[in-house]
Amino acid sequence: MAGYLRPTELNEALSALEAAPLVIVAGGTDYYPARVGRPLDDDVLDVTALPGLRDMAELDDCWRIGALVTWTDIIRADLPPLFDGLKLAAREVGGPQVQNAGTLAGNICNASPAADGMPGLLALDAEIELASVAGARKMPLGEFVTGNRRTERRANELVTGIRIP
Ligand SMILES: Cc1cc2nc3c(=O)[nH]c(=O)nc-3n(C[C@H](O)[C@H](O)[C@H](O)COP(=O)(O)OP(=O)(O)OC[C@H]3O[C@@H](n4cnc5c(N)ncnc54)[C@H](O)[C@@H]3O)c2cc1C
Repeated sequence: MAGYLRPTELNEALSALEAAPLVIVAGGTDYYPARVGRPLDDDVLDVTALPGLRDMAELDDCWRIGALVTWTDIIRADLPPLFDGLKLAAREVGGPQVQNAGTLAGNICNASPAADGMPGLLALDAEIELASVAGARKMPLGEFVTGNRRTERRANELVTGIRIP
């Protein structure tokens, strides 16, 4: 039987990913359209209740975009001109409903060749933050996405954010 988890703590989410392979769902705007017309039989980890992942913040050496930041959040945020390309891309993604639910991290993890988040983030030398029960690691976006629908994310890892130096 398919399961559905919606943890409210990061540790809970990481323990669940460690225990079993789960399909991570954020905004669901790639997940659900890919399954139209057939029963949903995945064991799902819904990450939308995890705290602290919807922030955009300027840290000492980078900007950090949390994994739950949506396209609408990017459009509305007061960001430096460095992000103008990304804002333009955000306005092109689907329509407002998709922009309200869809996340930048989901766009990257889905690894579609048509992902509108990729060019802007590659141009900004973005890095991907990954977390598992073993700890955190980060890697350049250009190494994270390895092909059509393929990434370097391990089955027990969650993307927690995107860092722009
Ligand atoms: C009508 C429509 C129009 C669209 N138009 C565009 C468009 O113009 N341009 C474009 O680029 N995209 C478009 N999309 C695709 C989609 O909206 C975007 O790719 C969106 O950013 C996906 O984010 P999400 O949070 O909904 O991802 P989800 O559907 O929740 O997840 C997508 C993938 O990422 C994985 N994932 C999500 N979050 C994490 C995480 N934190 N850690 C690890 N894995 C994770 C999921 O397991 C899944 O494989 C469109 C979709 C629809 C339905």
